Amino acid sequence: MPSTQSSAESPAPGRAAPPVLDIRDLRVEIPTRRRILVAVDGVSLQVAPGEVLGLVGESGAGKSLTGSAVIGLLEPPGRIAAGEIRLEGRRIDGLSHAEMRRLRGRRIGAVFQDPLTSLNPLFTVGDQLAETMRAHLELSPGEAWRRAAAWLDEVGIHPGAVRAHHHPHQFSGGMRQRIVLALALCAEPRLLVADEPTTALDVSLQAQVVALLRRLCRERGVAVLLITHDMGVVAEICDRVAVMYAGRIVETGPTAQVLRTPLHPYARELLACVPSLAPQPGRLRQIDGAMPRLGEVPAGCAFHPRCPDAMERCRRERPEARPEGERLVACWLLAGPPQGGTP
Ligand code: SF4
Repeated sequence: MPSTQSSAESPAPGRAAPPVLDIRDLRVEIPTRRRILVAVDGVSLQVAPGEVLGLVGESGAGKSLTGSAVIGLLEPPGRIAAGEIRLEGRRIDGLSHAEMRRLRGRRIGAVFQDPLTSLNPLFTVGDQLAETMRAHLELSPGEAWRRAAAWLDEVGIHPGAVRAHHHPHQFSGGMRQRIVLALALCAEPRLLVADEPTTALDVSLQAQVVALLRRLCRERGVAVLLITHDMGVVAEICDRVAVMYAGRIVETGPTAQVLRTPLHPYARELLACVPSLAPQPGRLRQIDGAMPRLGEVPAGCAFHPRCPDAMERCRRERPEARPEGERLVACWLLAGPPQGGTP
């Protein structure tokens, strides 16, 4: 096995374990010449060892910016304006570029939609795996190469000892994404941030890559922040899900609960768009309207122009997340009547 961590050492995913990733009140701003746009607004999330948390929503919700903030790759002028990001208890939101570069790979792995952005076409995949490991682990060249071959076998590319000598263009798209997964995990990180890792693949390959990602991370106790717009992927591998809309988390909870009985109207509408997950099959539909653009987020609840349940209060006051059993939901429907008036 390429990893030095055994599954026995890895705690089962659960909320009792201290989180590997702990985000509190994260605010990401994008200053423009005229004003400051708020792209991520008060996001709080925790991911435990071995747990897969799905961060879902339509494009423009702020999911990828949240992921970029965690791995220290926010594109300027985007910046973390408030809040904290902790990795195994240590604050990482204020680290320098050099410190973050060291952390990426060693403590945080990343997988993006297009495997070719992570692979260098000029080097063999064995070289790239071996170099990544040597940059972060104390390994001899021979040992790094041996582990590189073992990693290829581990992600189903056989025989690893032979395939390690091949260049990225000699692999199919699905194989390349599995190699990227090996690259992201080979230095034994504690957290994996995966941003739409299967979107570029055929449907038949998506399931393979998703199952592999889950198995590898579960066995090693790696916490996963999985950013996706695909509720099918969430249903397949996520332990918990956080639904994001217009820069804020609107519902968080165990995946089975959120998918079976979504409490927030946006989560409900999002699920109604997925044929295999719609609570009432046959009533498949699209959500009317569009996600508000940055700088045009309406007052009150940002979802109110699209919400079939919107009340007068929703246009005036923004709901904060409140606990509902094991979930957190930000919706006035669950808050009861306002003090001294009707909704
Ligand atoms: Fe709809 Fe109001 Fe709930 Fe927003 S707060 S989701 S507008 S019911």
